[in-house]
Amino acid sequence: MEQAIISQAPQLEKLIATTAHEKMPWYHSKIARQEGERRLYSGAQPDGKFLVRDREESGTFALSVMYGKTTYHYQILHDKSGKYSMPEGTKFDTVWQLVEYLKMKPDGLVTILREPCVNPNCAMAATPTVPPVRRIGFLQTNGYTPPPKAPDRTLPMDTSVYESPYSDPEALKEKKLFIKREQLMIDEVELGSGNFGSVKKGVYKMRKKQIDVAIKVLKSENEKSVKDEMMKEAEIMHQLDNPYIVRMIGICQAESLMLVMEMAASGPLNKFLSSRKDQISVENVTELMHQVSLGMLYLEENNFVHRDLAARNVLVVNQHYAKISDFGLSKALGADDNYYKARTAGKWPLKWYAPECINFHKFSSKSDVWSYGITMWEAFSYGGKPYKKMKGPEVINFIVAEKRMDCPTGCPDVIYTLMMDCWIYKHVERPDFAKVEERIRTYYYSVSKKTPPEENAEEAAAAALPI
Ligand code: ADP
Ligand code: MG
Repeated sequence: MEQAIISQAPQLEKLIATTAHEKMPWYHSKIARQEGERRLYSGAQPDGKFLVRDREESGTFALSVMYGKTTYHYQILHDKSGKYSMPEGTKFDTVWQLVEYLKMKPDGLVTILREPCVNPNCAMAATPTVPPVRRIGFLQTNGYTPPPKAPDRTLPMDTSVYESPYSDPEALKEKKLFIKREQLMIDEVELGSGNFGSVKKGVYKMRKKQIDVAIKVLKSENEKSVKDEMMKEAEIMHQLDNPYIVRMIGICQAESLMLVMEMAASGPLNKFLSSRKDQISVENVTELMHQVSLGMLYLEENNFVHRDLAARNVLVVNQHYAKISDFGLSKALGADDNYYKARTAGKWPLKWYAPECINFHKFSSKSDVWSYGITMWEAFSYGGKPYKKMKGPEVINFIVAEKRMDCPTGCPDVIYTLMMDCWIYKHVERPDFAKVEERIRTYYYSVSKKTPPEENAEEAAAAALPI
């Protein structure tokens, strides 16, 4: 939940401000006055029992309250500036806030509001102590359809890959590192390929559901060392569980060794952005890169170094949701270490590597921050290639000479400053992911709250409201 709130706060604020009442047990949507009375009279009839309903023609709300076994109806006023109130009462930005207020002050009513008359169709009514974690606003809950008011944009937490498929305790019981071949269906469609083999699309059958998966299939002619590498990758992924990191579902040893992961259908971030330059705003890129910073913060907090963070290894679930992938070079740090020392240099992505990686083979979260800066540069240049045509060794000289890549066209100054700070030569002076995440979040919130009115006037107005 914390992750959901941090990453989606601007959208959530908009949704909450405009639609919070729709989730309340006392909200009965569009019912006639008589039906409201019927519902209030059913069961006990204590003073202050109340409900809110949509008035039939006018598009405004009405409040019906029980007092002395009689029902009183009030119109909720909605003024030009969008505020809600009782006649001559205190004005509020949302119906929900008004109701909360009327629970404390009568504000002209016969009584303060007390017990809600529970809407029989409201999902929350069945489980009043559990807040509706998902499906805020525009998606349906059990048979309850709120008016289609909120923006039609899928939030990460409304997708099937926000939570682990094992978050359900029943499913967790069945979780094993090695999964059965019978439960796996492999498609011919290839999502990607590499020296190891290929990544294929597939479906994994769990007890209660089927999930789309991506399957890294090792070529059978590979040597044992390649197999060991894939097992190491699996071992790392097995320990991670975060909405902004591609999760491993399990390993399958059958016709070949297979690493089964949750699916990020829109593919690598660099390709995604380069093919949709005109459709994706800078704000949208910021949103995705903020999500990447959240995933990296999770790794930093849990002492993992990624070592291959690059736009090609950030996978896109949908336009507003990205996840970090490819843990092929990743390491878990020892309890007392804050860096990993590679004994020998391998086939390294030098353009993404901090000076201490190249000079001393030292990898830490701070060197991941450097790679994050390069990844930011790639993202804000919509899938551009870093350092143009320079070769690895030229890049090293370029960095030593205190040169850095230019600001991508159209990239905001604040973002470029953050990038440049990720490329501070000395790792001790470089910000950590806690700082990077906070900085990109602050900027992202500041721009996303300024959604232009022509896009959605209602949304923008709601976003400006303190709630
Ligand atoms: P490599 O170590 O060869 O870089 P990756 O893990 O990056 O392997 O995967 C290679 C390609 O396979 C990716 O660029 C992407 O196109 C595809 N791929 C990998 N994992 C997934 C996934 N979970 N969902 C969708 N596509 C994936
Ligand atoms: Mg890769």
